[in-house]
Parts: sequence; C-alpha cells; structure tokens
Amino acid sequence: MKHSDTIVIGSGLAGLMAAYTSVRQGKTVTLLTTGSGSLSLNSGVIDVLGFDGNHEFVASPKEGIKSLPEDHPYKKIGMDMLEKAVDEFLAFTKEYGFPYHGSLEKQIMVPTAVGTMKPTCLAPQSLDGAAFEGKSKVVIVGISGLKDFYGDIIQENIRPLLGENLSYEVVMVDAGLEGGRDVTTLDAARWLDQDKGMAALVNALKPHASGNAVFLLPQILGTSGESVAIALREKLGAEVIETTCLPPSVNGLRLQKMFHQALMKLGVDIIEDTKVLRAVTKGSKCTAVVAQAAAREKTYEADKFILATGGFYSGGITMREFEKPREMIFDLPVWFVPGEENWSNEQLFSDKPQGFAKTGIRTDESLRPVDDSGKVVFDNVYVIGRNLGGYDFCFEHSGNGVALASAYKAVMM
Ligand SMILES: Cc1cc2nc3c(=O)[nH]c(=O)nc-3n(C[C@H](O)[C@H](O)[C@H](O)COP(=O)(O)OP(=O)(O)OC[C@H]3O[C@@H](n4cnc5c(N)ncnc54)[C@H](O)[C@@H]3O)c2cc1C
Repeated sequence: MKHSDTIVIGSGLAGLMAAYTSVRQGKTVTLLTTGSGSLSLNSGVIDVLGFDGNHEFVASPKEGIKSLPEDHPYKKIGMDMLEKAVDEFLAFTKEYGFPYHGSLEKQIMVPTAVGTMKPTCLAPQSLDGAAFEGKSKVVIVGISGLKDFYGDIIQENIRPLLGENLSYEVVMVDAGLEGGRDVTTLDAARWLDQDKGMAALVNALKPHASGNAVFLLPQILGTSGESVAIALREKLGAEVIETTCLPPSVNGLRLQKMFHQALMKLGVDIIEDTKVLRAVTKGSKCTAVVAQAAAREKTYEADKFILATGGFYSGGITMREFEKPREMIFDLPVWFVPGEENWSNEQLFSDKPQGFAKTGIRTDESLRPVDDSGKVVFDNVYVIGRNLGGYDFCFEHSGNGVALASAYKAVMM
C-alpha cells in the first residue's frame, strides 16, 4: 500500500496549487484525480474579488475583502495567507515560463469575447487590457468558422468603453480549419503553434498594422506559455491582446499544462482517471482513501488529505434529494441556504448571489471541516476551492482566487 505525506484529491486549480505548494515544502505528494477540472472552462485568469455583496465593483480586492461576511472563505484564509499565495503563484508562473502579473491592490481589466471588460486580479500579459492605453486603432481579428466570436458585436460593445477617438476595424482570417464542423479556439491555437499558421496570420494582419494599432484576437495565441504572443507582437510591430473565451479555454489549458510540467518535474505522483470513492477513518483521523483504479479498488495512505473535488461543479458534492446535499468521499456535513424560495434567483445573472452557489463545506480557521456546532470532523482533512461553502464565485468573481489561497493555506497548516 502506498503511503505519502499528503494526498490531494482533485486536479482543478485548487488541487494543482495544493500539490505544487506541498511538494515545494518537501512533502511526498500523491495527486488522485478523475477528471481535469474547470481550468478548461475558465479563462485561467485569477479573479480574487471583482464585486462585493451589493454587486458594487471592487477597485481593490484587498480592500473589498474587508467588507465580506465572517463566514466567507477569505475570512478563514486571512489576508496574510492570501498575499503569500499570490506571491507563490506569481513566482511559479515566472519560474516555469508563463509569467502572470498583477497585485491585490488593484484590478486588471481584461477584454471579454463579447467586447466588454471584466475585472480580474492576476493575468498573463496577453490578456491585460492595459495594451489599449495610448493606442489609436483597434483591429478585431476573427477566424472563419470560429464559434462564439463575433467581431461586429465586439466592436459595438468595446467602442463606448475605449472611446470614439480610436478607429476600429474587423478583419476575418481564413485559417483553413473549417472542415464541416465548428472551429474552436483550441484548433486555432494549435494552428498558430505551427510556423505556417503564424506566417499566414502575420501575412493577413500585416497590412492592418499601420498607425498605433492594437490587435484584439480570440484566445488563440498558442497552446503553451507566451511564446506565440511575443512572436506575433514582434512580427507585426504592434501590440496583440486576447479576449477571455467560452470553453475550451486555451489560457486555462496553458496554466494547467504548466502546473502538470512542474508537478512531474518535482516528483508529485499524479494518478489520473482515478475516482476516489471513500475514506478509511480511525476516530477523528483519516488514514487512507480508497479509489477506483482500472478494474479494482486501490487504497492510498497518507498523514494529510486535501479535498479539492470542486463542489457541485465537478461532482465533489451532489444533491439527489432537495436540501440533502452530500459530500461524496468523507460524507462531510454540507452547509446550504435553507428554503426552496432562497435556492435561486429568477435571473441567472442577477444582482444578488445565488443561494445554491453558496452550498459547500464549512471549516475552521485551518480549513478543516466542521459540523453544525462548529466541531472539527477530521483533524487531518482540509477542504479547499469550490468545495468551500459561503460564497458565490460567479456573482463576486472570486473563483480562482479562493482556489489558490485556500490551497496554499491548507498546505501550510
Ligand atoms: C464556465 C466557468 C468559467 C469560470 N471563469 C472563471 C474566471 O474567469 N476566473 C476565475 O477566477 N474563476 C472562474 N471560474 C471559477 C473557477 O473555475 C473555480 O472556482 C475554480 O477554478 C475551482 O477550482 P477547484 O479546483 O476547486 O475545482 P475544479 O476545477 O472543479 O476541480 C475539481 C477536481 O476534482 C476532481 N474530482 C471530483 N470528484 C473526484 C473524485 N471522487 N475523485 C477524484 N477526483 C475528483 C475533478 O475531476 C476535478 O479534477 C469559472 C467557472 C466556470 C464553471
């Protein structure tokens, strides 16, 4: 039977960050995961806090966090740990060749795929809307057949935000990717990974590079790191910037790939396609977890367990019966907003948090799960990321920030 210092369950951003931080602390780490998590869905930018409880824009995430209720995950994590988590993440992205930048003091504004601007806290340069500053022309670049990216709509929405003193044009590029199916951002990013794709794009865009132009593209600038963005910027002699996107998220996948490379280099034992089924416990301690391997069950022992199974979104928590949510591995108590009428708002994107989204596990200050009376359920189990209760990541724009910070704190406990 395999024994590790730490077992991390789940390989979304929270699990990847927990495994990385843990191995850097000198621990032996096993990462058990059944799927890839939500990085392929989200844009891979790190929202820490974009909006407060009244849906007011938060100019400084650091200041905004002060106004959150005491049961919010950030209040358990604490500012000191959040700051250290941000430092660790920024250092990691720099060391592994795809640097992010930003700080907790102020937001970075990133362009979305519909031409609005969204606040985030940490982002790679290719998504930073600061690229528009001081420019006289915006060239919106569409790829023929690419779904969910409409240059005219982007132009209509972004004009009032950037100003009428700039000129705007939409350029369509045929990458030859249409073969009877929708083209995705991932297809186009793979095309640009190749020299011939890059040459064709430069050829198509060069005539539009006049003046003080900035090129706004879908999220297609290569499947890893920032080398494609840097090369295109150099070849065009102009700024290039990507939008956030609908799935698949190329930037989320870039971040995921970089974490995987780091974990493999640092010796984390990554066991994929493995669904953790249940825990083996002794009193208030967990001693092992049992997982479904190819055709049989396998037991993994550890001193510490970090639960990063993604809540409702990734099956870490399910609810087959109303008001009976269930955590699937440890059978931990799950907190929820009672009353059917409080479960959801009529409008999906409303100006109030969604009750259902706040469903999750409550913890003590160390992120160990607690029951209704506040008593710690297991001494050596820590809960992180989307499993945590008491916040609506979508409403407040805090998903990846909570994932990073809770992962860092759980490792340091
Ligand atoms: C469409 C969409 C867009 C988003 N956009 C943004 C954004 O732009 N910025 C931002 O900050 N946040 C965004 N978020 C929120 C963000 O994705 C999440 O809050 C955060 O990344 C959650 O990470 P996680 O690791 O907790 O969970 P997940 O990413 O869901 O990962 C959970 C992991 O657990 C694994 N797992 C589950 N059950 C088991 C089991 N029994 N055994 C083994 N493994 C298991 C899953 O396979 C998965 O690997 C977005 C979310 C969505 C859905």
